[in-house]
Amino acid sequence: MAKYWNEKVECMSREDMIELQNEKLVKQVRHVWDNVPYYKKLMEEKGVTPDDIKSIDDLHKLPFLKKDDLRECYPYGLLAVPLKDCVRIQSTSGTTGKRVVAFYTQNDVDLWDDCCARAITAAGGTNEDVCQVAYGYGLFTGGPGLNGGSHKVGCLTLPMSSGNTERQIQFMRDLNATILCCTPSYAAYIGETLRDMGYTPDDISLKAGIFGAEPWTEEMRHEIEKSLGIKAYDIYGLTETSGPGVSFECSEQTGMHINEDHFIAEIIDPDTGEVLPEGSKGELVFTSLDKEAFPLLRYRTRDICVLTRGRCSCGRTLVKMTKPMGRSDDMLIIKGVNVFPSQIETVLLKDFGATPNYQIVVDRVGTTDTFEIKVELSDNMVSDTIKSVEALEKKLSADIQQILGIRAKITLCEPKSIPRSEGKAVRVIDKRKVYNV
Ligand code: ADP
Ligand code: ZN
Repeated sequence: MAKYWNEKVECMSREDMIELQNEKLVKQVRHVWDNVPYYKKLMEEKGVTPDDIKSIDDLHKLPFLKKDDLRECYPYGLLAVPLKDCVRIQSTSGTTGKRVVAFYTQNDVDLWDDCCARAITAAGGTNEDVCQVAYGYGLFTGGPGLNGGSHKVGCLTLPMSSGNTERQIQFMRDLNATILCCTPSYAAYIGETLRDMGYTPDDISLKAGIFGAEPWTEEMRHEIEKSLGIKAYDIYGLTETSGPGVSFECSEQTGMHINEDHFIAEIIDPDTGEVLPEGSKGELVFTSLDKEAFPLLRYRTRDICVLTRGRCSCGRTLVKMTKPMGRSDDMLIIKGVNVFPSQIETVLLKDFGATPNYQIVVDRVGTTDTFEIKVELSDNMVSDTIKSVEALEKKLSADIQQILGIRAKITLCEPKSIPRSEGKAVRVIDKRKVYNV
């Protein structure tokens, strides 16, 4: 079984990789300068020209590009090739405001598919596999990205898109799907539906799942692995940099290898913009190296994570990023305290044994924030005595207070009362925003 999709690149020595990146960076900067007046102006404002960028050591001289710049340039302002050379448009799912569109030449699509093929191969996929793609197809990059990767690897591709969960399971069984690609929250829902239909993991042939597009905890991973009888791999990407496949997990499951031959990653302090040393936690910044239609130099993702360059047992030398546990703008400030939804998910799934179905509701009464966590009871919890449910509620409240330092009102809900997600889950309802805009 092939271990790597592109061994030469995935296991390249650091020196060779730096040389490759240096060469590509110089070209990519020139391409942007020559073709994207908006970014050229940002460079001029910073007093930088392409002649100043001779290697990746000069990267820090370049200005940042932010999501707001992309919105300002909508739709064609950052396009670096004539529109007639583009073959595809994709768009962000709009989780945090106005959508952003990205353009692709055929070569851009091929490189993107190739990144996804690396991810599928790292999850054990070969041309013997049946790959069920249950990410949404359409403008969202999840479906088209994994679809392209699956074709490259030669898997028999089942382009299911998301939704119609019972039919997903029927096809999964009838056609012996071995790999499932979707968001982690949809994978959890598929696992739940499988059980509700009276099946166990022994009734399906899945061996691996490739899940991404939203933050998910280790506890969520265990939950999904158990409910589907698989090994669950993480995959990361964003529309701006092409889509899923910017980084992917290997069998070691200790972070995602970044496809460094196509993207240079930096970690910066989100407040000062200062580049932080390797191993520091901060905002991930990407510079594309090969993109033709929509090249991005020093794009601030707002995703918070850590880069590590330790030896990996899989043999890949590509730098690894930890799971982003939320974007800087996912962070809630409740009663002055910083709260990431993923911290709450960890407590719920690990200490409480709850289902991954929960909702965080934040509101403001007068000048005081209110903070409620709605947690769905699992079927076996419902049959517990009221006393033991109360005890659980108390323990959960104490655990949350210990982790976050503030109290939350815990509301236990009936099984199946919190809406399920077929794409990215909506975990937070922040009613304060309604009053503030
Ligand atoms: P939107 O910004 O509208 O959600 P995208 O669909 O392009 O648009 O989403 C990209 C974002 O999704 C990333 O910036 C990141 O915040 C999140 N994301 C993608 N993959 C993962 C992952 N494996 N783990 C955590 N977050 C992820
Ligand atoms: Zn590895």
